[in-house]
Amino acid sequence: MSKSRSKIGQKKTVAPVGPMFKRIALIGIGLIGSSISHAARRAGLAGEIVGAAKTEATRATAIKLGLIAKGYADAREAVRGADLVILCVPVGACGKIAAEIGPHLEPGTILTDVGSVKGAIVRDVGPHVPAGVHFIPGHPIAGTEHSGPEAGFAELYDNRWCILTPLPGADAVHVTRLRTFWEKLGSNVEIMDADHHDLVLGITSHVPHLIAFNIVNTAAHLERVTDSEVIKFSAGGFRDFTRIAASDPTMWRDVFLNNREAVLEMLGRFTEDLIHLQRAIRYGDGDTLFDLFTEARSIRRGIIKAGQDTAAPDFGRPHGAQTEKK
Ligand code: NAP
Repeated sequence: MSKSRSKIGQKKTVAPVGPMFKRIALIGIGLIGSSISHAARRAGLAGEIVGAAKTEATRATAIKLGLIAKGYADAREAVRGADLVILCVPVGACGKIAAEIGPHLEPGTILTDVGSVKGAIVRDVGPHVPAGVHFIPGHPIAGTEHSGPEAGFAELYDNRWCILTPLPGADAVHVTRLRTFWEKLGSNVEIMDADHHDLVLGITSHVPHLIAFNIVNTAAHLERVTDSEVIKFSAGGFRDFTRIAASDPTMWRDVFLNNREAVLEMLGRFTEDLIHLQRAIRYGDGDTLFDLFTEARSIRRGIIKAGQDTAAPDFGRPHGAQTEKK
């Protein structure tokens, strides 16, 4: 029992009875949507969860796994009666879906999304949001390289950040409600504006993915090193890039088409720094290399200290008896 509750004579705060939302509509039930369903059911946040997906296969799987009570081909039907609607589709699909569902959203509903780019979501979704509906864009900074309704799990958001980018003048009560929802899913929540989000994620997520896609393809196109050698000796560093490069092509195409400016800005800086390294190697400047690598190493230590990864060697892969058979 907390200190404040144990004080004699103090008024007890009564926790609200029942779920936070009576009906949550997930538009898109892939990795992110299905993980929201798992975590929301774990915390008892929804009276009912329904969903819409493009294909019958995804809808059937989502029902079979208990992710949704009902599945709809038409997102307009899914949002009827929902007090929380979450767009969990690729960024490029959000505007068209918002245009379709906009007239069917009920006053008081929170409309949010999980897209990896925020400025484009504000631009594409914002104009279709009717008065009385609370549009609060969001982005959980959590994911894996897997896709689809079977990829989700309840712990995906635990101790990961979720960024909300409310528009100026957003209703504070509803922003707090959405913040609480994400906290109950397991996340820590930070609020920032959409443009800043796109700049930060440009360097922490989008450019790293671009580098991974590129290096994997560079290796694949090499003529003097065989494909089997690339696979055989991948533990030299390449393997970790291949995991990132296995991410969904549709999602990432949409990220780069919709965060062009921030990515180009970060890519420009990256290229300048790469040329600095290239010069140091060319001229045998060991001091520069050593200093730059030492600086980079401290970033990794900071991430571990912040609890965003473990210090276990080799990205936490099991070792010893559990190691994969050779
Ligand atoms: P996913 O596993 O590929 O699932 C995408 C879902 O969207 C599927 O249910 C798909 O339906 C549906 N969909 C795709 N295109 C559609 C369209 N044009 N109209 C209607 N539905 C459509 O993708 P995800 O990884 O969950 O990503 C969803 C969103 O989360 C993206 O905006 C992404 O930027 C963001 N995000 C992803 C990650 C990550 O690591 N993956 C992390 C944070 C945020 P079908 O299955 O029927 O095709």
